[in-house]
Amino acid sequence: MLRIKNVSVLTPQRMLENAQVVLDGAKIKSVEVEPEIVDKNDSTLLDGEGNYLVPGFIDMQINGGFGWDFTEQPDTIWKVGNQLPKYGVTSFLPTMITAPLEKYSQAQDILQSGLPQDCTGSNVLGLHIEGPFLNPEKRGAHDPRFMRSPNLKDVDGWSMGNGVMMVTLAPELEGAQEMISHLVERGIIVSAGHTLANFDETQKAIAGGLRYGTHLFNAMRPLHHREPGVAGALLTNENVIVGIIPDGIHIHPALLESIYHLVAPQRLNLVSDAMAGLGMSSGVYKLGPNSVHVSGGEACLEDGSLAGSVLSLDQGLRNLIDFADCSLQDALHTVTTTPARLLGLSHQKGQIAPGYDADLVLLSHDLQVLATVVNGRMVYQRDYEGN
Ligand code: ZN
Repeated sequence: MLRIKNVSVLTPQRMLENAQVVLDGAKIKSVEVEPEIVDKNDSTLLDGEGNYLVPGFIDMQINGGFGWDFTEQPDTIWKVGNQLPKYGVTSFLPTMITAPLEKYSQAQDILQSGLPQDCTGSNVLGLHIEGPFLNPEKRGAHDPRFMRSPNLKDVDGWSMGNGVMMVTLAPELEGAQEMISHLVERGIIVSAGHTLANFDETQKAIAGGLRYGTHLFNAMRPLHHREPGVAGALLTNENVIVGIIPDGIHIHPALLESIYHLVAPQRLNLVSDAMAGLGMSSGVYKLGPNSVHVSGGEACLEDGSLAGSVLSLDQGLRNLIDFADCSLQDALHTVTTTPARLLGLSHQKGQIAPGYDADLVLLSHDLQVLATVVNGRMVYQRDYEGN
């Protein structure tokens, strides 16, 4: 049994100072305020030294990291997952960009075969397939040679049970509406991205079950006051959550601040959209078939197009608090309860309460990750006073 004592438990719903959290296996057993002195012999103690204990972060869009690219080498999902806890990420959706269909089934097979024994990192919740039913005119770093028109035959083996959690597509493509209904029926979250959809097309897609917007504003028809386009439809629909890459490059800090106040943190989801250069020094890394130049915190193709990011999600959270001048408690929604709700995991993740998954992050008062617990196991810890 692991006891984490002397922490300020902070979730989007509550703040409990001088608290202790007791874990039982992979679950949270109890949350106690001003706990009794416990018998040290019956448990492992982590002294939080008054730091924040927050729910683990969920990254809905990450293409790779630490030199590895999921689209090129789907078997590196576990290796990347092993390193993500240092950024507070306890669950993620490995994201694969536009590629030949075999690549996706290869990744599905890897997920079905389960976690290798030496992997104790972040939970892999399922794939986010970003492609191949995208608009070539908004391709970004995706290779148009592998883009396809929506065709139900191509997604025959895709379902939540088969490891596909989310699909990003362009709703304006012929056959997209039918595909949205088909994927939603199979428990998959459908998102709009790399798209020129107009307002009406997007409204129709939302009525058909579309629930998310992939990297809002990036690779999308721009917002126009007379044709609000895909971004306008996503922003104004209460049923939709919008994903944003908060690196200060993909979206201007001033606009992120406005969006934060417009949609409230319950409808805003921060993603890293990190690629293989995450956690590495400047250099050339893969994103699918592309060579991407990483330097100065930017990841770009030769032509200057942005190709993912090298943002860590904990830095993204700090950026949001800085750009939008909001509290940690409110900002936490965007990486905990909001993605958990979208994924249908609100009863399991995003809270610190009895019965919830023991996915936890110890954050210093300047919001640096000090320790991370995944499924009740301490998987990352750095030196700080008290350990
Ligand atoms: Zn993209």
